[in-house]
Amino acid sequence: KGIRNRVRLRKPQRVALHSWAFAQLGDFIVYTAKRAGVPLVFVDPAYTSQTCAECGHVDKRNRVDQELFICRGCGVVAHADRNASHNIATRGGSVWNAGRESRVPATP
Ligand SMILES: [Zn+2]
Repeated sequence: KGIRNRVRLRKPQRVALHSWAFAQLGDFIVYTAKRAGVPLVFVDPAYTSQTCAECGHVDKRNRVDQELFICRGCGVVAHADRNASHNIATRGGSVWNAGRESRVPATP
């Protein structure tokens, strides 16, 4: 998601980046995952760049700059994108597991 905010383009190109480019990227990922037989889940990306992947502390100030993440809760230092990618992966895992659990009835 962050690409939208990071990539700077000349004005006429911004509209395209917001609309069809991202819709097309989404379609392409869905198509490619299906073809390869790879499971695909969508997650809410909100606050993934402000949340600490180690302790879960959420603070806007955790994200020091474009590259640097320093947790105000536990002090962990990480690359901002790497930290955010862990949060996205964790959310993806939760969505995936929730879907599986809902299909498989619990046995007492
Ligand atoms: Zn932390």
